[in-house]
Order: sequence, then structure tokens, then C-alpha cells
Amino acid sequence: MARRPIMAANWKMNKTLREAEDYTAALIPRAEQAEGVDVAVFVPFTVLNEVARMSAGTPVIAGAQNFYYEDSGAYTGEVSAPMLQDVGARAVLIGHSERREIFSESDDLVAKKTKRALDAGLLPVVCCGETKEERDSGGFWEKIKTQISSVMDALEGDVDGEKIVFAYEPIWAIGTGDTASPEDAQDAIGKIRDLLRELRGDAFADSVRILYGGSVKPENIEEIMAQPDVDGGLVGGASLDVESFGKLVEAAT
Ligand code: PGA
Repeated sequence: MARRPIMAANWKMNKTLREAEDYTAALIPRAEQAEGVDVAVFVPFTVLNEVARMSAGTPVIAGAQNFYYEDSGAYTGEVSAPMLQDVGARAVLIGHSERREIFSESDDLVAKKTKRALDAGLLPVVCCGETKEERDSGGFWEKIKTQISSVMDALEGDVDGEKIVFAYEPIWAIGTGDTASPEDAQDAIGKIRDLLRELRGDAFADSVRILYGGSVKPENIEEIMAQPDVDGGLVGGASLDVESFGKLVEAAT
């Protein structure tokens, strides 16, 4: 089954409102020209409303970088799924390694958020990845397996593979310029797909999209996208400049 690739920008804690507007205006025509690829931008809450408004009716999918799984109430500093949808968000990053490491997000919290996003009809892009020590000590697969299994365990009933996306992002490759080799990316993502096949069957495993993230840039995207199980990229640094992200979108077509 042919899976539709996704090229996703993760702006992290970057861009003013003005910068976000200029970027989105420049991205829309590029996304309109890119056939057969989904284009998503995960932006800070402060600019989400505007990016979503500008992207409405275009192929650009506006997404948030985080949310909390309750819908409202005494959760100072948090934003809920209905709030994201209220301003036009269609997707959300969950469990990025920076959320897990800097803000102590657990596998349990990541699983609860994924369930809530799916129930709300937001596209969850669930991140997983190992540290350098875990890779060097050979413990990388145990870590990834736990991260993926805890999410899948929390999802009851049938889940449509097209409604959830995973992103494999080795922590040692994020923002370091040190990309996983295309073979290592394929190895990890192939293993994730095999695990999902074991847990949820062929239809789910063949339709779920799994992205690679970690120092993706125009110079290495072709060989990463050439791997059979890699369905796209989640891009931080190289997504901040719209010219460079536009090249990545083009490479995914
Ligand atoms: P990077 O970040 O492309 O700057 O390595 C990727 C990510 O953290 O999603």
C-alpha cells in the first residue's frame, strides 16, 4: 500500500507573529505545487491562530507542538485539544524528546495525550527516540519498544493507521548535525513498523506513517526518503528557513 509522505516543520520556540506570517505566505504556494505530499507546520501557540487562519483551504496543515489531555479546568499554563481546534489546528506533536527530557513527560502522559488527540480528531505525531548512551550500550530497541507499546496499549478498539503518525528521532541526532545513517533510520523505522504489525495487524502497520527526524536537511533528504519504511521527515533547524523547508517538501514528492 502506498503511503502518502509527510514533510513536517517543527519550529520549536522560534518566530514572532510577523515572521510566522511571512513564512506561511511563502510556504503555501510551495505546498500547493507539491503533489502527493502532506505538508505540516508545528508552530508555537502564540502564532498558531494566525498560521491556521492563513493555511485554511490550502494544503498546509497547521499544528501545535504540545497540549494537555484534559479539556478545561485548573491546569495553569496548559492548552487543550478543543482549544487547539478552536483556532484551526489539525495536528499536534506529542512526546517530542525535548518535552520528555526538559519537561519530564512520561510514557504514560504521552499515551494519554495520544488517546485524547485521536478522540478529538487531531492528527497526533508521536515522537520516540533513544539517547546516545542507549544506542552505544545496545539498549536502543528496548527504549523505543517501550515508548511505542505504551502508546498503543492506551488506544482501545480499532485505530485507523492513517489517523496517527509516529516520528523516530534519535536524540543524539537532533540539532547536532549528526544524522542517523539512512540504513540506521530504515533499521529503526522498519522495526517500529514490525512492532506495530505485531500489535495491530497488517492494515494498521501498512497504512501508518513513520517519519525520521534528526538533522534532516536538503543535502541528506533524498537518501533518507529513499528508505522503504521512511514516510517523511520531522525537521527542526532546517525548517526555520522557508526556502530550505520548501526544498525538503519538494524532495518528498
Ligand atoms: P533538527 O530537529 O532537525 O534540528 O535536528 C528535529 C526535531 O527535533 O524535531
